[in-house]
Amino acid sequence: MTRLLRILTSVATVLSLVLCVTTAAAWVRSYRARDIVWWSRENPRLELRIGTYRGGLFGSVIREDSYLSAGTGWQHSAPVSYTEAGGSEGRFFNRFGFSLEYFHSRNSAVSMRELSCPYWSIMLLTAILPAVRFARWRRRARRVRMRPGLCRHCGYDCHATPDRCPECGRATGDEPSR
Ligand SMILES: [Zn+2]
Repeated sequence: MTRLLRILTSVATVLSLVLCVTTAAAWVRSYRARDIVWWSRENPRLELRIGTYRGGLFGSVIREDSYLSAGTGWQHSAPVSYTEAGGSEGRFFNRFGFSLEYFHSRNSAVSMRELSCPYWSIMLLTAILPAVRFARWRRRARRVRMRPGLCRHCGYDCHATPDRCPECGRATGDEPSR
């Protein structure tokens, strides 16, 4: 792996971990309050909106031909369920809080795309990179300790004292403790 790729992977892993932790916090919050955050642009109107329901969130893109004022906003109210928040029912995946909707009205020239997913699915995705990195780090740490002449418990160089590790005091022949 090149150096640049290694740096990019590290950055992606850290961002992924931050996102995972943030999602966990948002997940807890979704049971206490419903949040809606939006940003909109004027003429033609485009609005991006993120709203939460108990255990997940909706992301919507709304397009409208009519003139409406631009701005950003945030409002919060009592928590609601997926269906109370407007989530569709009927399909298998809808039961878990997933949906991908497209709504278009010719009369009012309004179109809306909406995606919803439960927080656990975001956590699962964002946990992949950190989990892979952690497993690799553990494997590498184990391999380093298995190298002859190094303490199997702490990795200290024991060439001068082959029987007992001067760093952690354990016999070098012992099985590493878990
Ligand atoms: Zn040791």
